[in-house]
Amino acid sequence: MRIQVQQVNVPLKYNDNIILQQTARKLGCAPNLLSHLKLIRRSLDARPRNPEPVYALTVEADLALKSLPKTIPPGIISPVEPLPATPIPSRDSTYPQGNAPSPAPRPIVVGAGPAGLLAAHQLALAGANPLLIERGEEAAARAPKVAGFWNSGILDPESNVLFGEGGAGLFSDGKLTARSKERGRVRMFMELLHACGADDTVLIDAEPHVGSDILLQIVPRLREQIIAAGGEVRFNARLDSLVIEAGQLRAVVVNGQEIACQQCVLAVGHSARDVYAMLAAQGVALQPKPFAVGVRLEIPQTAIDRAQYGRFAGNPLLGAASFRLTRREEDGIRACYSFCMCPGGKVISCASEPGFLTTNGMSYSKRALTHGNAAFLVPVSPTDYPEQAIPALAGMEFQRQLERDAFAAAGIAYHVPAIRLVDFLARKVQASLPDGRSCPNSVPVEFRDLLPEFITRTLEKTLPAMLKELNGVKLEEALLYAPETRSSSPLWIARNSEGESINTRGLFPVGEGAGYAGGIVSSALDGMRAAERLLGGGARPLAKLTET
Ligand SMILES: Cc1cc2nc3c(=O)[nH]c(=O)nc-3n(C[C@H](O)[C@H](O)[C@H](O)COP(=O)(O)OP(=O)(O)OC[C@H]3O[C@@H](n4cnc5c(N)ncnc54)[C@H](O)[C@@H]3O)c2cc1C
Repeated sequence: MRIQVQQVNVPLKYNDNIILQQTARKLGCAPNLLSHLKLIRRSLDARPRNPEPVYALTVEADLALKSLPKTIPPGIISPVEPLPATPIPSRDSTYPQGNAPSPAPRPIVVGAGPAGLLAAHQLALAGANPLLIERGEEAAARAPKVAGFWNSGILDPESNVLFGEGGAGLFSDGKLTARSKERGRVRMFMELLHACGADDTVLIDAEPHVGSDILLQIVPRLREQIIAAGGEVRFNARLDSLVIEAGQLRAVVVNGQEIACQQCVLAVGHSARDVYAMLAAQGVALQPKPFAVGVRLEIPQTAIDRAQYGRFAGNPLLGAASFRLTRREEDGIRACYSFCMCPGGKVISCASEPGFLTTNGMSYSKRALTHGNAAFLVPVSPTDYPEQAIPALAGMEFQRQLERDAFAAAGIAYHVPAIRLVDFLARKVQASLPDGRSCPNSVPVEFRDLLPEFITRTLEKTLPAMLKELNGVKLEEALLYAPETRSSSPLWIARNSEGESINTRGLFPVGEGAGYAGGIVSSALDGMRAAERLLGGGARPLAKLTET
């Protein structure tokens, strides 16, 4: 009988024999009754109250018994997870070479971020010969451009930290947090990343992480897979507008050229503000959506490790520690929560429009830089900002205003406004910022000149209290950068339960830009589901997910 066993604890340095012995111990059976062990998942447990840090494993095995022994404690056996619906070609397998073109106009996927790449991949695998268009450059050309932006402040509005192959996820922390209950689809995505070069740990870690350096290798291989399966990928190809007749999509206009199309997966991300404006002008249904705005806070990684690992801090097998902090709304102060934590990473300056600036965080695969950072966000709702002629665009205009102000306040092109936390609390600005900070292109600015009062008031009250939860972290060590405006979309491109725009047949808005996902995995899954819908498959209802 095949069984899945939970909570098999092993030391950080383990091997197959240790897994076998510990699984047998957990089941209270002899090791020789177990065979074909497979490690399914592992999560680190390095709480200082444990005698030693361990990995808690989920292991699948064949048990040579007709019924389960009575010695098994309750809750440690679970059903064997089903295999993904569509097998992903492994690293070593030969890929199918080009499918015969289908007679109808092929589906078009707009945007080569996680949502668009996965939609195109699924469509290509199914023989639908999709055309994937991306306004930015391919990853290899994009990387030096982004480096140039950080070094010299020269922005290419079409190919930058947010636009180009890999989307907003390319220069990211590359954490692959998956809150989705659709384990099969998550597994498929991880297997695809693995097939494209991600480390084995993406298949088993509870909170997998790849890092920007590895994403730069994975994403072009994913594109090669799409092409090998019959898809076409065009870079420097920007969607300008749609041709809609009687509520049905007829064509897309790309770099001024009309391309006939009856089905379009719109995966443009939430930085494509020109696309939002175009959709509004063309009457595609949009709805305002709550989002969040705040700052990015960084502290020395050693302090985070000490707080989280206690006496185990410094063990090289543990890796850089992360945290997740939340504070509920109280006494007129809004809620605040940490988001998109990047252990051993750096704070970066981001822009996709000239004269606008926002912050974010990224890391490399080793997460070995000296600081960890996370966004600290305060919820924003449509009542917080001025109305606009098109209500759905008002949130975006609010974000833009903050980004415009930040650009102007920094005074040097695309430098990031920053302030020590203690100075922010004391309402003073020093002439300099700490040496060794992760974002050297930052300048001291008073955040009360940048952010709305309801946000600074909330941060003032909540940040010191939240940091107290990280035992031993000193407020003096914390540095803030702002504004963090693009944690999620400010609107929904309204879609029905089939994933199609509610008033434009053939238009399938997906991913973070459509407002239905937040993070690499949920965006990728949303793209996969849309492809399945287009192909007439029975994907489960499209849910709203966020996960970084
Ligand atoms: C710095 C940073 C770090 C992050 N770190 C993480 C992380 O560690 N983990 C995580 O889960 N999430 C992270 N995120 C969020 C994550 O990157 C996004 O949730 C995800 O990329 C959204 O995927 P998407 O495909 O919906 O959109 P995007 O990734 O934004 O991709 C949209 C694509 O569409 C293209 N496009 C836009 N307009 C057009 C047009 N008119 N024509 C053609 N193409 C167009 C864009 O160029 C872009 O490539 C991070 C984001 C940033 C910016």
